[in-house]
Amino acid sequence: MSKTVFQKIADGELPARIVYQDELVVAFHDINPQAPVHVLIVPRKPIRNLASVTPEDAPILGHLMVKAAEVAQQLGLGATGWRMVFNSGPDAGEAVPHLHGHILGGRHLGWPPG
Ligand code: 5GP
Repeated sequence: MSKTVFQKIADGELPARIVYQDELVVAFHDINPQAPVHVLIVPRKPIRNLASVTPEDAPILGHLMVKAAEVAQQLGLGATGWRMVFNSGPDAGEAVPHLHGHILGGRHLGWPPG
């Protein structure tokens, strides 16, 4: 199967503004930001979306969430707050079939989302 753009970014084959990376996850600025801070955090493992995870992915997902919180803090969102979004499947608008959490902040975020 061909690599997704996020797999290529994680493998260093496509440029991105990376804000954090380790052996399990990579976080980088979204190319089309929807808020003053809009960062994507992805597992290096090519999991399609949240609907595709298995129990063996639990350590990766837990690590991803812990690192997302650290990234949000590092980017100055600690006091004002931020939102984490995972789009899974067509109704949610999933465009890239590689699991990714959107870290959004820096402005008031409406609820419910569109
Ligand atoms: P989705 O709709 O799948 O949840 O979100 C995909 C996100 O990936 C979108 O916010 C889109 O702007 C972002 N994106 C798509 N291609 C690229 C890319 O090549 N580089 C970066 N940094 N972001 C991308």
